[in-house]
Amino acid sequence: MGKVNIGLRGWRFDEEEVFDEDGDLMPLGTLEPETRDRIVRLSTMMGEPCDACYLIHGDENIQQCNVARIVYGEPLGEVLLCPEHEADFLYWFREEGGKRYAGDTELEDAFHAWFDDGGRAPEGYGGIDHVDTDADDIPAPDPTEELPTLEEELEKLDDEKLDDLGVDLSDLDL
Ligand SMILES: [Zn+2]
Repeated sequence: MGKVNIGLRGWRFDEEEVFDEDGDLMPLGTLEPETRDRIVRLSTMMGEPCDACYLIHGDENIQQCNVARIVYGEPLGEVLLCPEHEADFLYWFREEGGKRYAGDTELEDAFHAWFDDGGRAPEGYGGIDHVDTDADDIPAPDPTEELPTLEEELEKLDDEKLDDLGVDLSDLDL
């Protein structure tokens, strides 16, 4: 059993912690609070625009933003990125001091400030390798791996089941 992404590439979960033997998502109420918060947080970020695109286009041209596929950072301090802008983030993280925000929710604001100020990766910057924005050392994900969609997984959990477990999604301060 290894580490898996759910929904968006970036955050990694212990496969055996979040999925049962049938490959279904475990009931949220049985998960570690930190894991549960991340999964619930992911569910709110699915389909959101890339942060960098959003900084360029804004609300008025939101249809020009790419949907985010990648998440870096910590819950409530995430950077959401499309594949096109991942290189900018990786460049900032590695070469422009972004690394000092690893494990810190300030990562989001710091990257936004740099990008908004015109910060970009140089043309052709190799941004394929994943960097670890968690405090823990986690291996790079395989970008070709199939991701189960979180929406499908959450649909499997009916509201009653969530109620039984005392999980109130509106209670997580998102
Ligand atoms: Zn983008």
